[in-house]
Amino acid sequence: MTLYIKNARFIDWQNLTFTNTDIQVSEGKDGGIKLIDSIPIFPSDPAKVVDAKGKFVTRSFGCGHHHIYSTLARGMPAPAKTPENFIEILKYVWWHLDKNLDLEMIKASALASALYCAKNGVTFVIDHHASPFNIEGSLFTIKEAFDSIGLSHLLCYEISDRDGEKIRDKGLAETKNYLKAGNQGHVGLHASFTVGNTCLEKAITLARDYNTGIHIHVAEDMSDQDHCQQNHNKRVVQRLYDAGGLDLKGSVFAHCIHLDKNEKTILRESKVWVAQNVESNLNNNVGLADVANYGDRIMLGTDGMHSDMFRSAKATFYQGLGTEGISFPGIYERFRNIHRFIKENGFQGDNENNLVILDYNAPTIMNQDNFLGHFVYGIDSSHAESVISSGRLIVEDKKLVTGNEEDILRFAREMGNKLWKKLK
Ligand SMILES: [Zn+2]
Repeated sequence: MTLYIKNARFIDWQNLTFTNTDIQVSEGKDGGIKLIDSIPIFPSDPAKVVDAKGKFVTRSFGCGHHHIYSTLARGMPAPAKTPENFIEILKYVWWHLDKNLDLEMIKASALASALYCAKNGVTFVIDHHASPFNIEGSLFTIKEAFDSIGLSHLLCYEISDRDGEKIRDKGLAETKNYLKAGNQGHVGLHASFTVGNTCLEKAITLARDYNTGIHIHVAEDMSDQDHCQQNHNKRVVQRLYDAGGLDLKGSVFAHCIHLDKNEKTILRESKVWVAQNVESNLNNNVGLADVANYGDRIMLGTDGMHSDMFRSAKATFYQGLGTEGISFPGIYERFRNIHRFIKENGFQGDNENNLVILDYNAPTIMNQDNFLGHFVYGIDSSHAESVISSGRLIVEDKKLVTGNEEDILRFAREMGNKLWKKLK
């Protein structure tokens, strides 16, 4: 079905020109948009018309590093021990949580995250999943949930040695099954310090076999570097480089906080993309990256803390002022870089027919010249009124069209209770 948006004030996401126009949106992963003077009175096929009078229409957003598995963590019981460092945060919070996830909880987590993404105008999600005692079918469960809401995605399972060889092999098998079924995805790895050499080798071979990249946490905390030096006599990026992990198509390295000059050079000269997650770094107190010399392949993620890319952009901007001296165009480019990542690596689901209608009633005028000031200080996700994913209207007037919001949240709360009982 063709979708028409009438009376739009269209903002071209690349050159920031503003055009008063109607828009014809065609559906599908290979669909596009056409700016038209008026909507045909008798369209050639069934059509849906959305009136955007007084609203702004622009390209929707993407998340470069998410963890739907953490959705049910909000408000959960306190850990057995208050963590004193990053490793203890993993041990007492996240690894305790992910070990208790079952497929029903994963489904609820994926649906709730997808709901929030959709309502925030995020139509493409790169996710990194963990559920060590329910790996089989986990990626397919997340895919089904995302597809039902209408989001495009690039999923992976975070393979590691932290729970032994059997579970490592299950992670590899789930990844292989998922990719073999023709789904676009990464080969996920947790982090250098939980991934032995055999595991790393198998993961990179698998990625090569399916012409995709790896998605891994890199030097999120200094302990990752210390472990790598002690066990492999080299630093993390060097280790991944030596193993062939930097030549793959579409690899994502999350965080990359504690890198030395040589690692930055390796990264800059590779094809790897960095996903920055500033709020998570502050929350875990692991330090903040100065990404000034990382090259231009940096995009933004949320690290599972939320599904709001405006929020990520604003946090990255404020942090970047003090580290790299980031500018308005600099933060906007980083916010939009995910589109370049998807396009350059040939992934599907992020064509021009991914749009958001913003109901942004500003106290001052907004135009091409000052848009970036509004982007940093004014517009936020609460202004996302309607959202179009691959040409399909998935949120209309702030209501999810592709599912029942109350049912999804009721199911999530039910699964949250079930999980929390297991955590105690
Ligand atoms: Zn992460």
